[in-house]
Amino acid sequence: MGELTRGERAAIERLDAARMLARVERWAAINSGTRHLAGCAAMADALADAFADLPGTVTLVDPAAAESVAADGSVTALEHGRHLRVTVRPEARVQLLLTGHLDTVYPVDHPFQTLTWCEPGVLNGPGVADMKGGLALMLEALLAVEASGADLGYEVIVNSDEETGSFSSAALLADAARGKVAALTYEPALPDGTLAGARGGTGNFSIVVRGRAAHAGRNPGDGRNAIVAASALALRLHAARTPRLAVNPARIDGGGPNNVVPDLAVLRVNFRPADAAEIARAQALVAQAAAEVAAVHEVEVTVHGGFNRPPKPIDPGAARLFALVRDSGAALGQPIAWRDTGGVCDGNNIAACGVPVVDTMGARGGAIHSADEFLIVDSLHERAALSAVTMLRIAGGALA
Ligand SMILES: [Zn+2]
Repeated sequence: MGELTRGERAAIERLDAARMLARVERWAAINSGTRHLAGCAAMADALADAFADLPGTVTLVDPAAAESVAADGSVTALEHGRHLRVTVRPEARVQLLLTGHLDTVYPVDHPFQTLTWCEPGVLNGPGVADMKGGLALMLEALLAVEASGADLGYEVIVNSDEETGSFSSAALLADAARGKVAALTYEPALPDGTLAGARGGTGNFSIVVRGRAAHAGRNPGDGRNAIVAASALALRLHAARTPRLAVNPARIDGGGPNNVVPDLAVLRVNFRPADAAEIARAQALVAQAAAEVAAVHEVEVTVHGGFNRPPKPIDPGAARLFALVRDSGAALGQPIAWRDTGGVCDGNNIAACGVPVVDTMGARGGAIHSADEFLIVDSLHERAALSAVTMLRIAGGALA
């Protein structure tokens, strides 16, 4: 809607496409698979260096404790890398949150480690779209906004564990979201620039069932079969599914030789709730089913996990932010549309804090999470311009 102002035009002229591409190439050469702690540390250091060009404070925040449940039912601490936090002008009237992740889905021993040009302007490489390209253009947009002298306060959070569910950064994101008028997250947009609109939510549980072992022929009555109890639990949970709450018992670990009543099983189950009420329903369902199965089968049931990604609806606040991004795009000659998706990301968690978020402000690209991942290089400048104009308008009170 409308035209660009002179200030917006001046900010766009400051965007440096070559600098963005150089950063993407440098950052994509660092393997930062979520579990590769040395790589995540190197990437965090590189980001801390680059983001130090902004005013304000740059810190690396220790990850919060997170756990994983092994197939033998044991619970171990899960190590993560540090997260980047940048705080600029916390006293300013308008406060914005910008988020991204430094991790990728490619482990250090994955064959996909290098950059290749598919054709001029299309770069193939690990994390080029998801989301080292997004981080490069976020920083470039911020530098342009800074040069324009806008009175905008903001925090940047770049976490190291988004690809595995943000378990060690969820509290940090929630803390940073507090008091923010809006959030922009730099997940890649679709190749044609379409944004993700509403997102579903997801929750993952590992339910450990401990029974009692016995000889399958000599004294089976003394045993308490953990596999049977876990199966009963899977059936109960699955029977409670509705169009608004998908329930997927995905796996049962445990069991052993045919002549032993198994004393251990771990049921893995995924839920896809449509809204917060369905999360509450699912939590009650898990608690009730666990208690009933424990009583009926005389086993011990321990529930691990939870709803780490709440659903992200398009509420009136989000609709206003989407309209602002669309209008900023229109002024730049970029038609911007959005479409609902079943995928999840940190945008889900930010929305759950009551802060409107557009979570696909990153580069245009595709085939993410595969060795064909590509970045459309021209989109770095294009999307940095979209971000810069959106931020300037937010600074100017567009959401007030
Ligand atoms: Zn991502």
